Amino acid sequence: MELDAFRSSVDRWLDEHAAALSPDHPGMGTLDQQMAQLAKVKRLAYDAGWMRWGWPERVGGLGGSTLLRAYLGEALTARDLVESGIYSLTEVLAPTMIDYAPPELAAAMVPRLLRGDETWCQGFSEPGTGSNLAALSCRATLTDDEWRITGQKVWTSLAQYADRCVLLTRTGAPESAHRGITAIFVDMASPGITVRPLETMHGGAEFSEVFFDDVAVPVDRTLGEVGRGWSVAMDILPFERSTALWHRGAFLNRRLEQLLAAAAAGALAPAEVGEVFQQLYALRARSRATQHRLAAGQRLGPETSVDKILLATAEQGLFDLVGAGLAQDVLVGDDVSSERWRAELLYSRAATIYGGSAEIQRNIVARRMLDLGADR
Ligand SMILES: Cc1cc2nc3c(=O)[nH]c(=O)nc-3n(C[C@H](O)[C@H](O)[C@H](O)COP(=O)(O)OP(=O)(O)OC[C@H]3O[C@@H](n4cnc5c(N)ncnc54)[C@H](O)[C@@H]3O)c2cc1C
Repeated sequence: MELDAFRSSVDRWLDEHAAALSPDHPGMGTLDQQMAQLAKVKRLAYDAGWMRWGWPERVGGLGGSTLLRAYLGEALTARDLVESGIYSLTEVLAPTMIDYAPPELAAAMVPRLLRGDETWCQGFSEPGTGSNLAALSCRATLTDDEWRITGQKVWTSLAQYADRCVLLTRTGAPESAHRGITAIFVDMASPGITVRPLETMHGGAEFSEVFFDDVAVPVDRTLGEVGRGWSVAMDILPFERSTALWHRGAFLNRRLEQLLAAAAAGALAPAEVGEVFQQLYALRARSRATQHRLAAGQRLGPETSVDKILLATAEQGLFDLVGAGLAQDVLVGDDVSSERWRAELLYSRAATIYGGSAEIQRNIVARRMLDLGADR
């Protein structure tokens, strides 16, 4: 299907099914409510076919350009039907399964994620390993035909809801760095896994600590080659910084419009509004180019760090403006709208951390795009 036809058909379907798709809760809702809403919207959109466009037929998709799924996420976010961050985890994890899982496994699993029947999480970060991911130590040992996994992950988004995890493990010698890492697709219901949600300052428990105590995983759940998990990670991260950010940009644009409507006359400095508008425009222009490169079949790489820098700048710029323009409501109001602005303002601080911190993104741009040399 062509993009223009897809857009108008999706828009029409969203209009016609507005009542069935709307959240049952006021405002942004709790994380439990957001997850239930996400599952509902994905199921309806999958069963109507929309959620399948832009994905390969071998994993239950209907084919077509990746621009189709970029638009669907944009439309769902712009209409406030899904929270963009949790919606876009599909964009981060499904491409990896398609590229690296054994074909039968990808064919069995990806439709469950697309339809919202399952939630997956991304087990990369560890207590001692965030930016320096190559130092991770959660160990997997091969015995006969299964892995035995022992170790800990942290900041694992949605782990408490997840049915599966794309997990990075150490399978080589401790000093093997990025050469001794293997990616494994783990069932979160496996015996030996303990998930402890972590409360965040914005009031949700979006992520968790996850403990693995001699967890058995069949060897056919290996993603890619043993010892080559670094490539899996390097391919996931650009996805985390591409279509997901297009969706996030749609959310930010909508919130800027709502801020302009909600702020009292004179509460917002025109120069600051103009600056945020420019930041959002730069993000959208950059992310649009990334969507088109992805659609043209190009391999995404370190250049997506530019998208992530622009996203974090725009998100924090917008919510700085929220803090200034709606100060009273944001700081003390207890109505649904104020609570939402407040939670989003607090969450915006995470934009320079998740998906790789702002400093690390700038290091990537400096070293890998501008050839400015390594750390001293
Ligand atoms: C909302 C949220 C969701 C997340 N979800 C997930 C998830 O689902 N799965 C997952 O695996 N992880 C997740 N993370 C973790 C995230 O990827 C890490 O927090 C991030 O990579 C930074 O790692 P760290 O917290 O260990 O900080 P550190 O790596 O300890 O960094 C601390 C500070 O030092 C700076 N720094 C570190 N090294 C350098 C350097 N070489 N040069 C310059 N500055 C440096 C960093 O920029 C940062 O400011 C999430 C984080 C957040 C906030």
